Amino acid sequence: MVLLNSDICIAPWNMLRIENNGNCYICTSSFHKISLGNIFEKSFDEIWNGDVIRKIRKNILFKSDYSYCKTELCLKFGEKAVETYGFKFPDNSEEYTNNYPKLVYFAFDSSCNQKCIFCRDKISMMSKDEVEKWNCIFEEKILPIIKYVRIVELNHAGEFMDGMFSKNIIKRMLEVNADIEFNLITNGVSFNEENIKRLGIENKINTIHVSLHSATKQTYKKIFRQDNFGKVIENLGYIKKLKENNKIRNFEIMFVICSLNYKDMPLFIKLAKKISARPSFSLINYNANAKYASNEIEYNITSPLHRNYNDFIRIIKRDIFKEYINNMPPYLLTLDYIGKKQVICNYINYFKREIYR
Ligand code: SF4
Repeated sequence: MVLLNSDICIAPWNMLRIENNGNCYICTSSFHKISLGNIFEKSFDEIWNGDVIRKIRKNILFKSDYSYCKTELCLKFGEKAVETYGFKFPDNSEEYTNNYPKLVYFAFDSSCNQKCIFCRDKISMMSKDEVEKWNCIFEEKILPIIKYVRIVELNHAGEFMDGMFSKNIIKRMLEVNADIEFNLITNGVSFNEENIKRLGIENKINTIHVSLHSATKQTYKKIFRQDNFGKVIENLGYIKKLKENNKIRNFEIMFVICSLNYKDMPLFIKLAKKISARPSFSLINYNANAKYASNEIEYNITSPLHRNYNDFIRIIKRDIFKEYINNMPPYLLTLDYIGKKQVICNYINYFKREIYR
């Protein structure tokens, strides 16, 4: 198991993610194995201080046990939250906490006008039934705790600019908590000044994460299956301006690594520097509902079995990456810095994962 650099992950005391089947997680179901409970079945308090999360907190506190975490994928949300938002480890170090989560991730509006290969094969919008179902849960169980929340991050399931539901809940949250801040995850296509001002959030943004996964028009088209590269680059200019004028705190561009885009990685870092963004790299979630993302053999360039694996390793060993080591998934760090022995272990783990899947 790859150990985390930090002694403790503060996420279980500060963060909560609600996914579109109602299951709640500390960070994400891609990184954490256990659901804390379902928001359609349990009250908010039963999830946030229930048996499951208390056991996770206890294991971390008293045994440094992260066995519920997929540490080879974890992007160290807990550790980053200390640096980025100043979140602190609770003084009383208890399994039970009197505080509500400071950062809530919403992943329940699956509407998106794009069809990125990692995510979906068809453009899809939240259905009328889903909107009704989520509206009830939102008003009854989520909105009452919003006044205690510092940051809401949306949308982990789709594009917040495309979904009417996401736009409506932004309005509702601002009504109950005028100080709330937003972390926005976007594909950048509609993220322009006019749209953001219309939503009334230009001065309420803490962090913007843009899913780009490419640094050239050609690669962008392979990943998003549409030609919006020019539009997105233009909108990145708007975000850069927000950052320069101190209207946002953090600006990150994201890159999910696969066999179609790995050659763009050095250029992606150069692009990030040019627009004063932080580059962030992660791995594909092969359980995603897209045909491409389910074909691990073909697209998982980080697998020692991939025919272009050596080329990939040559690229990530370039000097340009040295400065960005902490922006890489832990799994890649083992390849680069622990060496052959760890690569062989990863190889064995890869086969075990295949067998027990
Ligand atoms: S997966 Fe990572 S961020 Fe999530 S709880 Fe575990 S260590 Fe923390």
